[in-house]
Amino acid sequence: MEKKYVYLFNEGNADMRELLGGKGANLAEMSKLGMPVPNGFTITTEACNKYYDDGEAISEDIQKQIYEYLDILEKETGKKFGDPENPLLVSVRSGARASMPGMMDTILNLGISDEVAASMAEKSGNPRFVYDSYRRFIQMFSDVVKGLSKKRFEEIIDELKAEKGIKNDLDLDADDMKVLVKKFKEFYKQELGEDFPADPKAQMMEAIEAVFRSWNNERAIFYRQQNDIPSDWGTAVNVQMMVFGNMGNDCGTGVAFTRNPATGENTLYGEFLMNAQGEDVVAGVRTPNKISQLKEIAPQAFEQFVNICDTLEHHYKNMQDMEFTIENGRLYMLQTRNGKRTAQAALKVACDMVDEGLINTDEALLMVEPQQLDSLLHPMFDADSLKAAEVITTALPASPGAACGQVVFSAEEAIAEAENGKKVVLVRLETSPEDIQGMAAAEGILTVRGGMTSHAAVVARGMGECCVSGAGDITIDEEKGEFYVNGQTFKRGDWISLDGSTGKVYGQAVKTVPAEISGDFERFMKWADDRRRLQIRTNADTPRDAAQAVAFGAEGIGLVRTEHMFFDGDKIKAIREMIVSKTPEQMDAALAKLEPLQQADFEGIYEAMEGRPVTVRYLDPPLHEFLPHKPEEVADLAAEMGMEAEELQAVVDSLHEVNPMMGHRGSRLAVSNPGIAKMQTEAVIRAALNINKKHPDWNLEPEIMLPLIGDLKELKYVKKIVDETAQKILAEEGSDMKYHVGTMIEVPRAALKAGELAEAAEFFSFGTNDLTQLTFGFSRDDAGNFLPEYYDAKIYDQDPFARLDQSGVGELIKTAAERGRATRPDIHLGVCGEHGGDPNSIEFVDGLGLDYVSCSPYRVPIARLAAAQAAIKHSK
Ligand code: ADP
Ligand code: MG
Ligand code: MG
Repeated sequence: MEKKYVYLFNEGNADMRELLGGKGANLAEMSKLGMPVPNGFTITTEACNKYYDDGEAISEDIQKQIYEYLDILEKETGKKFGDPENPLLVSVRSGARASMPGMMDTILNLGISDEVAASMAEKSGNPRFVYDSYRRFIQMFSDVVKGLSKKRFEEIIDELKAEKGIKNDLDLDADDMKVLVKKFKEFYKQELGEDFPADPKAQMMEAIEAVFRSWNNERAIFYRQQNDIPSDWGTAVNVQMMVFGNMGNDCGTGVAFTRNPATGENTLYGEFLMNAQGEDVVAGVRTPNKISQLKEIAPQAFEQFVNICDTLEHHYKNMQDMEFTIENGRLYMLQTRNGKRTAQAALKVACDMVDEGLINTDEALLMVEPQQLDSLLHPMFDADSLKAAEVITTALPASPGAACGQVVFSAEEAIAEAENGKKVVLVRLETSPEDIQGMAAAEGILTVRGGMTSHAAVVARGMGECCVSGAGDITIDEEKGEFYVNGQTFKRGDWISLDGSTGKVYGQAVKTVPAEISGDFERFMKWADDRRRLQIRTNADTPRDAAQAVAFGAEGIGLVRTEHMFFDGDKIKAIREMIVSKTPEQMDAALAKLEPLQQADFEGIYEAMEGRPVTVRYLDPPLHEFLPHKPEEVADLAAEMGMEAEELQAVVDSLHEVNPMMGHRGSRLAVSNPGIAKMQTEAVIRAALNINKKHPDWNLEPEIMLPLIGDLKELKYVKKIVDETAQKILAEEGSDMKYHVGTMIEVPRAALKAGELAEAAEFFSFGTNDLTQLTFGFSRDDAGNFLPEYYDAKIYDQDPFARLDQSGVGELIKTAAERGRATRPDIHLGVCGEHGGDPNSIEFVDGLGLDYVSCSPYRVPIARLAAAQAAIKHSK
């Protein structure tokens, strides 16, 4: 049997989203539930992938199936494509597995032509509606299929409005719409040298192809990278009978959420416009009405809609985001999906739904994206400074957060300024999906037009970025680089602040304070902690970071990078003296200066961790990092150290390496200079002894971690230095304090020889940054230059330094864990690379049964939730 590439809505269901895309699967599910969904069919994601495999062509067999289903659709609806007497008009809609709001393309009103329009106008007695639909179709088709500039069409509309002295689109009458149709077609012909196509079947096939193509437009690619959506999923295409919200005053269109997507409050939340087509609401061109007002305007449709919302929420057990249209008083459902929401709303919805008995705590934990919690961990406005600040206008609180930055007026500017390290707030008339990169670069977004469900708001909420929208008091003069509000002028570069939770805009920079975990957040994290198996540690080098991590729930430190302590004040001087020392005596003198300083650092960290375990890693970077490289700096330092510039330059030169990342670093430093390991051991052991004296109940057992080990003999060699030093001190002090020595696994050879290393190592910590670097043979510092070409060529989808390469690097981790455990069954295993805070990587290492992950303080709550989700998934 030939492969099926097309499904009627009533052949599918919600479980088929991989094949039908989210939109198609949910349209099918709503049809199945007996809801009023206009008929249609879905062309599968497999067809999209085949389109690309076939060199961007829709194969004969797929075309054949599409036409067969078009026939069925005609029979179902009783209308005929291209038939002036009883025309079928359709929308051609994109829809990937994961929702990507506004990132891909959709075309409405397809099937209309001069002949069809004339007959529809006569039959409906509503020529304005017909020609409005027609001109919209030409606009969308020209943009999406032919890539003509949208802007020119808007200009043609504006010119006509100016000519007629009218302001509002709604004041354009039927004849005006006809004029627009004519002008649009003229523009089309002038640009493309051919007439606007009249054959609806050809139009449809071109539109389907354009939707397939839109899977690879720039903003869709960017969105996928931001949201970890694989490029090989492809998009489905939905062809659906049109229903019209622009046919008159008993028609309309809207978008609604079953709960408030900004706060999570359990009230129907949405917006609509009467006499409009879908686009108008989401594009934020006209500021829409609140959904509650629909009750008066279309009471029957409203009641039906409220019931449907309720059914859908219970059915999907999740907050829904829906699109609907009302045609002559009749309600039609056009879309439902799990609604994007702010982190704050996500937590409230999860907690509320547990309390309502709709879901259990496991389902609640799976409902919140770990990554999202990030937005709750960043500073909020300081209440007092906020009170003192001047509110210049108040608009819709579209996406919460505290944004403070300098005004810019375009996405390009935002990107450029952010690259220069500036904090900016993007101020726009309205944002379109093309602005997504600029939105990501900005601290926050302020728009003049648009409602809570405009694309700007939806995308901002998805990114956890602060957004205030619909600030109608503002007028912008982009040319001058100014905006005006209530008698004040703000120029490009002026500071403003946005409060995305209240919608208030402040005409100055407002002070911020650190976030805290309380309320729903605290309750939810408790569920996560009860559910997870993995322990969560943090990577911290200062008492301040350590304390922050503890406040975020860290259970220990998995990595103290001791070298980070060497950079300030007296320490950098002492380490430089050590590096340039010529005799063992000079070396010992320099190390003797360092020891108490380092010991004090460790004591500070131990205090901040209040008895939690701390793994200290010994000096790791090549020594040249501690010396200056520019001639004038070398000269200055030489003068300071009382030596000749040439002499110091010679030391710098001698430390030069062609490949420093694979050079004299890690435990190799300890092999050549045992004094360093000795000094660090003294510092750790003495610090722990002091702390244990102060806090006898803490019972600290120092964990000493040796970096970049590749061989058992090497490990034993350095460990011997550690043991001799430690035991000497312990004997002197008459202490029986235990300490532990382990190794990082970051050289592929170490992973392979892990069975042997475990003879001497009590724990392994996978340093996945170096392990990735050395497994791929990619330099961490240079890979960014060529990886984009690998993404383009679809060789790699992801940066392996951000997302663990499970099949390659992951196999080394798995091998090392197995071999290590075979030798030492209770060996303690963890990850301390960047991947320790990446939810996907966490799921992977949970599956391997490692004991902990360690990540930067701000990722600790994310890791706690990711670990809980991993445990839930692995228990299924
Ligand atoms: P997006 O994913 O960008 O929301 P959609 O495919 O959902 O794109 O369509 C864009 C707009 O067009 C939506 O507001 C939707 O409700 C409207 N729309 C799509 N198909 C139809 C249809 N058959 N009849 C009426 N309106 C439609
Ligand atoms: Mg939609
Ligand atoms: Mg390393």
